[in-house]
Amino acid sequence: MIKISNNFYYIQNSIMGNNSYILINKNFCFIVDPSWNTDKLISFIESENLILKGIILTHLHYDHVGDTKKLLYNFDNVKIIVSTLGKEIVKNTSNRIFINDKDFKNNNFIYVEDEEVIENGLIKFLQTPGHSQCSMCIIFENRILTGDHIFVDEIGRTDLEYSNPKEMGISIKKFKNYVDENKIHDVYPGHNEFGTMKIILEKNKYLK
Ligand SMILES: [Zn+2]
Repeated sequence: MIKISNNFYYIQNSIMGNNSYILINKNFCFIVDPSWNTDKLISFIESENLILKGIILTHLHYDHVGDTKKLLYNFDNVKIIVSTLGKEIVKNTSNRIFINDKDFKNNNFIYVEDEEVIENGLIKFLQTPGHSQCSMCIIFENRILTGDHIFVDEIGRTDLEYSNPKEMGISIKKFKNYVDENKIHDVYPGHNEFGTMKIILEKNKYLK
């Protein structure tokens, strides 16, 4: 795991460049998008004596969900946190590329609304449908974790099942307004490199 600050770590895999993040609040932690980084996430959580409280999925594509199931086998009472806009996707048990509630028998899902907060406001969710109907960003202090919504110089694809290019346009505007009004300093996408808001505003033509 690579340390960004005392309460924020990340790891990237070489398969599809997926980033997994760990958000720490005292002795509790949350994983954002486990992907296929679970062995390293598990040993980090154990070595730091942290209690895994939840797995936050920026959206339900298989490369972000990855080995979520493995985490559920290793830790007790872990919740899977998904956008309310993902309910339909989770219920769709014929869907092979997303996880669904047939995979998870214990009602582990918690659905979060737009701008909902947990951990006394430390973690906040911003629904940003477009790449997927259930795409959401996570705000943690002055950082925003964007999943496949916004990358350093790109945006997420909108030609997939549950994508919607029109909603993507609306969500990009929403993202811009939010980061502007709330003085977000750093952006952490679901793949590849991250950057400061300043650099991303310069590099990403979709945010002009
Ligand atoms: Zn995706």
